[in-house]
Amino acid sequence: MPWFIFLISVLFQTVHPIFQPMESASERILYKSLGTQVSPSSSPVQPERFRGYHTGTDFEVFDHERDADVAVFAICTGTLLRKTTASGYGGYAVQSCKINGQDVTVVYGHLRLSSIAAAVGDEIIAGEKIAVLGTGYSKETDGERKHLHLSIKKGKTIDIRGYVQAKSELDGWIDYESLMK
Ligand SMILES: [Zn+2]
Repeated sequence: MPWFIFLISVLFQTVHPIFQPMESASERILYKSLGTQVSPSSSPVQPERFRGYHTGTDFEVFDHERDADVAVFAICTGTLLRKTTASGYGGYAVQSCKINGQDVTVVYGHLRLSSIAAAVGDEIIAGEKIAVLGTGYSKETDGERKHLHLSIKKGKTIDIRGYVQAKSELDGWIDYESLMK
């Protein structure tokens, strides 16, 4: 990356440590926030196959993005810990960061795995493009609609669960939306 972009990103982090994970993130529909409770019969998104309390924030795509490549950006600076696929996500990436001085792991879910240019162990700078979203209702998203699942887990241990069954377990995650207020 050019040195001036690096410098700007470092300066920006001292003012505000968190970047938006998608363009116009604050204008996107968020059907599921941290703590949204879902079940197959009651969910803001149908059909629903999961049950429990949502551990992250889902960012929906705009209509004009449905057939386009939609970039996902790192919300913080830190090492890429993992890039692979899992049931419920399709492709996903996990990054280790510090947010407000606290160790966290960030999960970016429903990505096109082949679009993740960074290697495990690489440092990704806040605001840098990580990947593009997977094609909706395909293997790339494990059959889910095209959207970004973003979760921020406290600590250094990777936990990719998209839902927890006890509300008290949500204490283990940080709410992206409250960070941006
Ligand atoms: Zn989600």
